[in-house]
Amino acid sequence: MPLPAELSLDFAFDEPTDEAHLRARVGRALGVAPSDLPPIALRKRSIDARHGVVRFHLLFEIGASDAVDLGAPHPREVGPSRVIIVGDGPAGLFCAYELARRGIGCTVVDRGKTVQPRRHDLKSLHQGEAVDADSNYCFGEGGAGTYSDGKLYTRAHKRGNVRDVIEILARHGAPEAILTDARPHIGSNRLPQVVVSLREELERCGVTFHFGARVVGLLTLLTRGAARRRAVGVRLADGSEIHGDHVVLATGHSASDIYVLLAELGVRLEPKSFALGVRIEHPQPLINRIQYGPLASHPTLPAAPYRLAETVDERGVFSFCMCPGGFIVPASTEPGGLVVNGMSLSKRSSHYANSGLVVGVEPSDVERAGFRGILGGIDLQRRLESVAFEAGGGRSRAPASRVTDFVNKRASSTLPASSYVPGLAATNVADVLDSLGLPIADRLRRALRVFDRKMRGYLTEEAILVGVESRTSSPVRIPRDPETLESPDLQGLFPAGEGAGYAGGIMSAAMDGMRIARQIATLVPA
Ligand SMILES: Cc1cc2nc3c(=O)[nH]c(=O)nc-3n(C[C@H](O)[C@H](O)[C@H](O)COP(=O)(O)OP(=O)(O)OC[C@H]3O[C@@H](n4cnc5c(N)ncnc54)[C@H](O)[C@@H]3O)c2cc1C
Repeated sequence: MPLPAELSLDFAFDEPTDEAHLRARVGRALGVAPSDLPPIALRKRSIDARHGVVRFHLLFEIGASDAVDLGAPHPREVGPSRVIIVGDGPAGLFCAYELARRGIGCTVVDRGKTVQPRRHDLKSLHQGEAVDADSNYCFGEGGAGTYSDGKLYTRAHKRGNVRDVIEILARHGAPEAILTDARPHIGSNRLPQVVVSLREELERCGVTFHFGARVVGLLTLLTRGAARRRAVGVRLADGSEIHGDHVVLATGHSASDIYVLLAELGVRLEPKSFALGVRIEHPQPLINRIQYGPLASHPTLPAAPYRLAETVDERGVFSFCMCPGGFIVPASTEPGGLVVNGMSLSKRSSHYANSGLVVGVEPSDVERAGFRGILGGIDLQRRLESVAFEAGGGRSRAPASRVTDFVNKRASSTLPASSYVPGLAATNVADVLDSLGLPIADRLRRALRVFDRKMRGYLTEEAILVGVESRTSSPVRIPRDPETLESPDLQGLFPAGEGAGYAGGIMSAAMDGMRIARQIATLVPA
């Protein structure tokens, strides 16, 4: 009987994973002596910790070829720059990469700094210095993904080739485990070198990068007889201009000045739903105990993740960007505002588990809160961030409450230790959330009670809520034509990634950037 192309097997959590044992197990399952098996390759590895039993699911390819050219085809020497990419986040970087695979030259401009000087600005932030509006956790080389948890999973499989992005990252220094892990992640200690390696390969091919280059204007042209204007370049904050045939706008969800600029140019924007809330932090051993039961401290098991979701009053309340063994970080982009987010190192070895815990906000909620106009959602975010900043007392200190105090509607007077380096101010976080006049705190409270039934012990005085998590996604979409992927109002302008409303995370942003590149390639001779 012919052997199957793939085989899925369950492994006990402490079963050996050396080559000989894997071949023996696969051989036994197929009724073939290990020595008669063709080459096998582990393709996927996931952990299943349901019902108090921990096991691994392994997916093998049978008859796998040894020689895998990761991330092929590779970028090649490019021609003169025809495309300007604004933003060196995953969307912009992978757009440049996909263009370079086709020999199409581009210029990437980013308002932030390269990873090394950017790291110094993050350190200052942790020490309570004011945020640099061009260099922070959201802005700079590699975009918002560089100093993150680097989770690479996505549900957006239809939007592009997930495997392709993973292979490119692995080829540029991400841990090999991302090729097989069902929930791959890279970590903030490895991500910067991956991002630099990608840039350096593109530079060797002739792609140009400019950092410290904030775009403050779009150059447009209306040619005789044309129905609409065309984007022909960008103006930078230092007054210089860069000209090109196409402009990819991949500026992420925090570049509010770009939305203002587009609105002034008459480029259509649409309000979209987003989410607001807090970061919740537990001791990681507690989450391990809830998820793994008696095996919680077994050394082969990774810091346990979780995912929670509930609907309250027709609004989703959900965990977001959960970081096992991670740190809460100050992720604001504007002085006088406070935003928190989460990151982790590749080993996920911190004592804490944090996650966004957010409530869906619809455009109608934004109006109800008194914020009008297309940019009302951004004004609302900014208001909340400024209230959080005041409540924390400045210097990036964040307002926080024990979860038990929060559900009992009282302020906290003490707080447990936390991963958040700039420091916490014990208060009633609900006061910050309620300042918008929307029932965010109430919905969180009700969902927390449900979450505690799903994960017994989740609602504990050892856990804290830290405010505010306000940048889960952009409150604005930049519409684009479904066929040409251009703005319907400005020919040659390609909105891309999370800031344009077409991605929600590193993977989907990268895939969206590649999709834009493939579209541009149909218009540009290499
Ligand atoms: C702390 C943190 C942790 C995160 N963790 C994860 C995670 O684990 N997994 C995950 O999938 N996602 C995570 N995210 C979200 C993820 O980083 C984003 O979804 C993703 O980076 C979006 O990619 P993008 O290319 O669309 O935009 P961005 O990554 O936001 O990049 C936009 C780029 O545009 C530049 N820019 C903005 N305005 C201008 C301008 N006017 N001129 C020039 N350049 C400009 C910025 O400097 C920035 O580099 C995290 C985000 C943060 C902040």
